[in-house]
Amino acid sequence: MSDTCIFCRIVKGSISAHKVYEDDLVLAFLDIHPSAVGHILIVPKVHVARVEDLTEKDSLALFRVLRKLVGDVQRAVESQASTIGINNGPESGQEIPHVHIHIIPRFRNDHGGVIQSVSGKGYRYRDMEMHEIAEKIKKSAGLNRRCGSDLAPSCFS
Ligand code: AMP
Ligand code: ZN
Repeated sequence: MSDTCIFCRIVKGSISAHKVYEDDLVLAFLDIHPSAVGHILIVPKVHVARVEDLTEKDSLALFRVLRKLVGDVQRAVESQASTIGINNGPESGQEIPHVHIHIIPRFRNDHGGVIQSVSGKGYRYRDMEMHEIAEKIKKSAGLNRRCGSDLAPSCFS
C-alpha cells in the first residue's frame, strides 16, 4: 500500500470511485477520463507497479476478473467488442505506477485504432533476426525462472 498512489487510495476508500467489482485481491472501477463509455480499470489491491512484479496469485486473480468483467461491460454498454490493454512502465505511457488493466469497449465504426499501433512505426526484422530474438527471449533469466512452474511447464521443450 502506498500513501501517494491514487489507486491504493481508491482501494483503501479514501478516494471515491465508481466501483463495479471487488473481491479480496482485486478491485475494478470506471476510468475517470474514459476512452469510451464503460471504460474500466481492473487493479490488484496490492501496490505493484509492473506486471512482471506481480505474484502468480495476483496475476491469476486479475485475469479471472478480466475474463468475467469483459462480457459484463460489453453487455452493459451494448458494445460489440473491447480493447484490453496494460501500459506497463513509464515509457509505455503508464501514468499511475500501480498495475491496471484497461477494458475499453469498442463499437462498430468507432474509428479507433488497433493495439498494435501503439509503438510508432512498428519493426521489420532482418534475416535470421527473428530466430535470434526468440532465442534471446527464451534464454533470459526471468523467463527461465518461470518456465518449469505450474504455469509454463514445457516452454523449453
Ligand atoms: P495509465 O497509467 O496511462 O495506464 O492510465 C491511468 C488511467 O487512470 C487513466 O486512463 C486515467 O483516466 C485513470 N485515472 C486516473 N485517476 C483516476 C481516478 N481517480 N479514478 C478513476 N480513474 C482514474
Ligand atoms: Zn498503489
